Amino acid sequence: MIQVPDDVESAAEQLRKEWHLGEDPLASTIEISEGNEVKVVEVDSSKEFDGLSGQANSRPVIVLAKWLKDDLSRKRLTILHEIGHLLLRFSSAIDEKTEEKICYRFAGAMLIPRKVFEKEFGGVRRQVWLEELLDIKLRYGISLAAIVQRALDLKLIDQDQYRIFKSTEAQEDGVRMSQVVMWAESFLRDSSNSYCVQPQRNTSVCPKPLLC
Ligand SMILES: [Zn+2]
Repeated sequence: MIQVPDDVESAAEQLRKEWHLGEDPLASTIEISEGNEVKVVEVDSSKEFDGLSGQANSRPVIVLAKWLKDDLSRKRLTILHEIGHLLLRFSSAIDEKTEEKICYRFAGAMLIPRKVFEKEFGGVRRQVWLEELLDIKLRYGISLAAIVQRALDLKLIDQDQYRIFKSTEAQEDGVRMSQVVMWAESFLRDSSNSYCVQPQRNTSVCPKPLLC
């Protein structure tokens, strides 16, 4: 039973275990879904629709927009989000809007479990490089936006960093390194320069406040 959003982390771990998925990146989310008796039906639709789920002949079904084939990380997230709607049981205190958010968090947790994410992301961060995010995106099939959301949910970045990322997010894969550097730098400006930045790539932050 999901009482609070954090509960989806253990729910995702449990489902990964029940479905024998281990902790590795998921290959095909459709195969995993159908291999566990959740049928996926792809339909033509406008871009306003991405997916929904329900029961057909007493069996769980996900209806998925065909156009998602052009955005694989979103397609994977949508399938797992719908699996969340189908399989999670929510406390009556959780309203519809919160359930939506929880299902997205569940999808992220299925794509990359908490412990794996914490290791890949490198714990609490003050600065993040696009290369690092792209590496996670490519290996786990998860969008940049979902990675950053996951980092926020797991408290590895804070609201200010998240807000700055969201303001540069629009271009997603088209975002250039310089923009992400800007993300980090503007954050540092916003945060009263309490950390000093090393100029090299991949070197994130000097841990000493302005003394190094
Ligand atoms: Zn939903």
